[in-house]
Amino acid sequence: MRAANADTVRRILCVFPRYTPSFGSFEHAYPLTDGVQAFMPPQGLLLIAAYMPENWPVRFIDENLGAATDEDFEWAEAVFVSGMHIQRRQMNDICRRAHAFDLPVAIGGPSVSACPEYYPSFDYLHVGELGDATDALIARLARDCARPDQQVMLKTADRLDMSNFPLPAYELADLKRYFLGSIQYSSGCPYQCEFCDIPGLYGRNPRLKTPQQITAELDKLLECGIRGSVYFVDDNFIGNRKAALDLLPHLVEWQKKTGYVLRLSCEATLNIAKRPEILAGMREAYFCTIFCGIETPDPVALKAMHKDHNMMVPIMEGIRTINSYGMEVVSGIILGLDTDKPETERHLMQFIEASQIPLLTINLLQALPKTPLWDRLAKENRLIEDEGRESNVDFRMPYDDVVSAWRRCMGAAYEPASLLQRYEFQIRETYTKRIKPPSEKRTTWPNVRLGLIMLRNIFWKVGVLGDYKLEFWKFALRRLARGEIEHFLEAMTVGHHLIMFARAASVGQQNASNYSVRLREASVPAE
Ligand code: SF4
Repeated sequence: MRAANADTVRRILCVFPRYTPSFGSFEHAYPLTDGVQAFMPPQGLLLIAAYMPENWPVRFIDENLGAATDEDFEWAEAVFVSGMHIQRRQMNDICRRAHAFDLPVAIGGPSVSACPEYYPSFDYLHVGELGDATDALIARLARDCARPDQQVMLKTADRLDMSNFPLPAYELADLKRYFLGSIQYSSGCPYQCEFCDIPGLYGRNPRLKTPQQITAELDKLLECGIRGSVYFVDDNFIGNRKAALDLLPHLVEWQKKTGYVLRLSCEATLNIAKRPEILAGMREAYFCTIFCGIETPDPVALKAMHKDHNMMVPIMEGIRTINSYGMEVVSGIILGLDTDKPETERHLMQFIEASQIPLLTINLLQALPKTPLWDRLAKENRLIEDEGRESNVDFRMPYDDVVSAWRRCMGAAYEPASLLQRYEFQIRETYTKRIKPPSEKRTTWPNVRLGLIMLRNIFWKVGVLGDYKLEFWKFALRRLARGEIEHFLEAMTVGHHLIMFARAASVGQQNASNYSVRLREASVPAE
């Protein structure tokens, strides 16, 4: 559903801020593709765009693809912005530019919902999810589109049932220019890991869309030009296990109908390994990757952060079980925990070697507002506000030791030979367990053309101009000899980004956390 038509017509400009280049946004992969320029289409803002009254024209600008222009601001009567903490500066910058045109600016999304105080200059703060606050905002703008005298905060008390969510306005986004498609089935997570703000923001009882909404969204994503992979951005795909089981047959049916043209991936807790019926359904639905917040291989640390559910099966066994259904595990890892010791770094490297996981997001611990970790550290007087620091946590170990360990781990984990060897393992042991989708709808001329362009870019930019040629050609020739072209493209686009990002990180040129408040100049201007 969408908001009821309003008597007055308002032109709404939705602006999504630029990301600070980060480990998880894959910038170094884009030049190897045929024109990808941004990570994922923003679910929240496209949802809000779709919810607007039908008679309100909406324009959507993702500043990762191109900045909003003067003409956009001149066209608009109100501006909506949404984003995460890491985009805070960019959001405030959009507000400043919109105010130069005397436009009222509203901000919603996860960052303002957790920290309204970060956004003093916005006219409207939309705190919480889509619901009565959204309706109140629309009613106010319909009545009067001038900037209010003082800031107005609207808090959602009554959330719109997810089964009533409209299909996100994917038609407003240039989907071909995104690295991944995104989709959301559920919101919330039943667990309470100490560092995580999801249960506080979205609740512990996951709310759900219907399977029919999801297949309709997939249809729309395809119609609007998405290719390759679609990521379920649910906080935990198995937050409600019965719902996951209900959805899977619909996904399998959809894949059969459309010819398996999209690979699927999601985030889920590692205890998914205890659910063979879910894993089997995911394999059939052509899920190829699961992001698991493994966080640390240390059971003491897992207990301390209230992530005991990671120990429901031995970690290594859980990873191998998931692999046996054809799914590669991507792992979140945290350094700087209170339980870390000098040997933590060595243990992490041993874990990487043993698990053979190619992609691990290794972050320094960061305390997010509205988390139990934040409350505990505040009580212990261990929160440090300093934008020059890599983390706002006063670690138990010396700060310089923790940051140096992070840099060494990044350098070693993404040393080209080591990373490509882990991909080699996955190609041999995991990818071979995937279903073999029929080729008719996948081997089309646009896909062949895309593959040729990517091959050309990879051979030229990595094989000829790159500086890890020996490791690259060893890996490349083995793939070519075995006809593993798709695996080669998949591994090299992601792998090249990891290698390049980790190099910069290991010499201190990148942030040590996707959540870090350490803000870099390059990340600020969107103009
Ligand atoms: S399982 Fe994941 S989403 Fe759930 S609380 Fe823990 S870290 Fe957050």
